Amino acid sequence: ELLVSSAEIYPDNTAFWVKKSKGGNYESITYAETLADVNALGTALAVRGFKDKRVAVIGENSYEWAISYLAVVCGTGIVVPLDKELNASELMQLIVNAEVSCVLFDGKFEKVFKEMQASGETVLKMLVNLDIDKNTSGVISLKELIKEGQEAINKGNREFIDAEIDKECLSMLLFTSGTTGVSKGVMLCHRNIAEDLMSAPTVLEIRSDDIFFSVLPIHHTYECTCGFLLALYKGAAIAYCEGLKYIAKNLVEVKPTIFLGVPILFENLYRKIWQNVRKQGKEELLRRIIKINRATKKVGLDLGNIFLKDIRAVFGGRMRLMICGGAAINPEILDGIRDFGILALQGYGLTECAPIGALNPDKAPKSASIGRALPNFDMKVVDINEEGIGEICLKGGNVMLGYYNMPQATAEVLKDGWFYTGDLGYIDSEGYAYITGRKKNVIITKNGKNVYPEELEYYLSNIPYVLESFVYDKESEDGLDTVIVASIRIDEEEVAQCLGEGYTDDMVEELLWKEVDEINDTSPYFKKIKRIVLRKTEFEKNTSK
Ligand code: ATP
Repeated sequence: ELLVSSAEIYPDNTAFWVKKSKGGNYESITYAETLADVNALGTALAVRGFKDKRVAVIGENSYEWAISYLAVVCGTGIVVPLDKELNASELMQLIVNAEVSCVLFDGKFEKVFKEMQASGETVLKMLVNLDIDKNTSGVISLKELIKEGQEAINKGNREFIDAEIDKECLSMLLFTSGTTGVSKGVMLCHRNIAEDLMSAPTVLEIRSDDIFFSVLPIHHTYECTCGFLLALYKGAAIAYCEGLKYIAKNLVEVKPTIFLGVPILFENLYRKIWQNVRKQGKEELLRRIIKINRATKKVGLDLGNIFLKDIRAVFGGRMRLMICGGAAINPEILDGIRDFGILALQGYGLTECAPIGALNPDKAPKSASIGRALPNFDMKVVDINEEGIGEICLKGGNVMLGYYNMPQATAEVLKDGWFYTGDLGYIDSEGYAYITGRKKNVIITKNGKNVYPEELEYYLSNIPYVLESFVYDKESEDGLDTVIVASIRIDEEEVAQCLGEGYTDDMVEELLWKEVDEINDTSPYFKKIKRIVLRKTEFEKNTSK
C-alpha cells in the first residue's frame, strides 16, 4: 500500500539512485518504474506458485534486492532476508528451518544454493539469480521473471496486484544476528512494520526530496525499515553506496541528505575530518568556530561559515540528518557532528520491534540518550537495582508476533503485552532513555560481582585516542579469580600528539593505565579492569561472543 500510494503521488520522483556498473555514474529509477517492476515480479512469483510461500532474498544492497523484497511482502508471501555474510552451512540451516521454497540471490551465491537444492534436504523449488540476463539450467534470471510477469499482467492477471493483505499476517521472518546466543527467527506481521513507518516521521521530518544514503546491510531491520521502507513511504530516494571503501566518494557523487549508520561509521568519518583539519593546520581555527557557535547556539545549515561548509562538503554538502543506532556511541561524536552543522542523533532498535524501540526527536535530541518511545508506544524499566538501573521493556503495535518455533524463548520475552528487551538502562524525567549494558552480557566474577562490559567500554570510548575497545573476562592463572581485560585499539595519529613520534607500546600502555585507573577509581560499582591488551587490527564481527 505504501509503495502504491507513493507511486501514485510521486510517479516521477526518483525512488532509487543506482550504479549499473562499478565506478559508473548514479542513474535514477523512478517510483513508477519501481512499481511496474514489483508488480511484474510479484505476478510472476504468484503464477509460478509462490504467492503465499516463504521466499528468501540474499545479496548486496541493490535495486534488485529491493524489488525482490517488495514483490514478496506486497503480495501475501513471507520474506526471509538472509545475511550475505553467512557461510553455506549456516545458510542451509536457515533455509531448512524456515522452510524456504524459493530464493532470490546475487550471482555469487548460485553455487551454494544449487548444491543445497541438489542435497534434497530442503524444500527449495525455485532459484532466481539477480545478476544474469537469461535463464540457465535450473536457475531463473530476475530479468526473465519480470518479463514473464509483465506478459501475465498484459493478459489480465491481477492475482498479485489485487491481493488482499491481512495486516496481522506474518510478512517477514528475520533471523537475529545471534550476538547473545543462537540466532532466533523473529516473526513480524505487516502491522508491525507499518507502525514503525507511520510513527517515526512524527518525531523526525522526512521529505520527498530527501536522499537516503544506504550503506548498512539491507537484510537487517535497521536498514530495511528505516533506510529502505521509510524512504519509500515518504516518497524520498535511496542511493546505494558501492561499499565501505567508497563511502567518501559516493557521498560526494550523490549528495544525500540522510545517513543511517552505526557507531564505527560515525566515529571513522568524524576522526577523518579532524585529521584532515589538523593536516591543513586549521585545528585551532575550527575549535574557535565551534566554541563561538556553541556559546551562541548557532548550529544549523544556515551557519554561513565557509570553513564549516567545506567540512560539510565531505558529506556531500546537502547532508542534514545522521542517525546512529545498533550499538552505543560516544555522545561527543554526535555533538561534534552537530558542530559541523549537521543534525546527528541516536535511535535504538531491536529486530523484535521491527526495529524502532526509541528515537530522539529532531527538534530536541539528547546525544547521550537513545531517545524516547515513539508516540503510541510505551517504555518502562523493571527490576530496578540500587543504582537506578533495570531492564528496558517496550509495548506497542511494532512488537513482533514471537520467535519462530521457539515458544519457550517467546514466553520469556513477551509478558503481559510487554517486550522484555534484555537491555539495561534508565529513563530520565523527560522520558529519554539511556542504555547502560545488556542483561545477557553481564560478566559474573568468581567473587560474585556483576560487571557490565558495555559500561566500561563506554568509559574507554571517551578517551580521545581510543578507536575501539572490547571488555571481556578471563580466568586468572591460579583459577581463583576473574580477570577483566580491556582490549583496546588506539588512533596512532592522536597518540603521537600526546607522546610524540617514535613512541613505544609500553608508553601507550602507561598512558592508558592512567585513564583506566581513573575509571577503576571513580566508577561507583565494582568493575576493575586488571589487564590491558593493545590491538593493532579492527575488532572482528561478533567478537563479543
Ligand atoms: P541477538 O538478539 O540474537 O542477540 P542482536 O542483539 O544483535 O542479536 P539486533 O536486533 O540486531 O539483535 O540488535 C539489538 C540490540 O542492539 C539491542 O538489544 C541493543 O543491545 C543494541 N542496540 C541497538 N541500538 C542501540 C543503541 N542506540 N545503543 C546501545 N545499544 C543499542
